[in-house]
Amino acid sequence: MITKNLQHIKASLPEHVTLVAVSKTKPVVDLQEAYNAGQRIFGENKIQEMAEKFDVLPKDIKWHMIGHLQSNKVKYMAHFVDLIHGVDKLKTLKEINKQAKKHNRIINCLLQAKIAKEETKFGLSFEEIESILQSNDLTTLENIKIVGFMGMATFTENQEQLQEEFLLLKNFFQKHKTANKSANCELTILSMGMSADYNLAIENGSTMVRVGSSIFGNRNYN
Ligand SMILES: *Cc1c(COP(=O)(O)O)cnc(C)c1O
Repeated sequence: MITKNLQHIKASLPEHVTLVAVSKTKPVVDLQEAYNAGQRIFGENKIQEMAEKFDVLPKDIKWHMIGHLQSNKVKYMAHFVDLIHGVDKLKTLKEINKQAKKHNRIINCLLQAKIAKEETKFGLSFEEIESILQSNDLTTLENIKIVGFMGMATFTENQEQLQEEFLLLKNFFQKHKTANKSANCELTILSMGMSADYNLAIENGSTMVRVGSSIFGNRNYN
C-alpha cells in the first residue's frame, strides 16, 4: 500500500511542492519501502527515533525533524539532520548553532509560527518571529540558516478556518521573503499541510507538505 499511496500523492503534487514523508512510529521496513519507491525525505518527531532510523537506512535520505524540540537533545541529530521544522525559541537556534559548529555544518531551520486558534499548539507569534529575524544575536549564528516558516493549522474540518490560518502565514511569509535580512536568513520554504489538509495548504501557498498517515496508514500511538 505504501508504494501506491506515495505514487498517488506524488502525482497530485505541483512541481514546486516538496513532500516530506512523515514516518514517526513506523518501522524501518515501511521507510525502506517508501525509499524503494523513490522517496528521499522523511520526517520524524522524536530525535532518538530519527537517529536510530538514520543509523540503519541509506545515507542519501534527508531527515527532517518536525516535532517539538528539546534543546538538550539537539546534539543527537546535529551530525545528520537536514532541516529542523519546529524551532520556536532563539535559545534553541543558539543550541542548534553550537552543535552544528562541532560538526562543521550549517543546519537549515524553519521558525514555527503559531497559526492555530487552539491553546496547546507550540509556535511563535508573528511579532516574536519578527523580533528573532531582526535580532543582532541572529547575525552571529553562522552555523544555522533560517530557510522559511512552518505552521500547523487548527485540528478542525472547518475549511474556511483552515484557509484563513494558512493564508495568514502565507501573507506573513511573502512579506518577509523579500525584506532585508541577516546573511543566514533566506526564506524559501513554507511548510504547511498534513494528510487531512495538504491540498488546501498548497492552494494557500504551501511549498512543503508533511504527510504521514495518507502514506503509511494510521498510527497506533503518537
Ligand atoms: C505527525 C505529523 C504530521 C503528519 O500527520 P498526518 O496527519 O499523519 O499526515 C505532520 N506534521 C507534524 C508536525 C506532525 O507531528
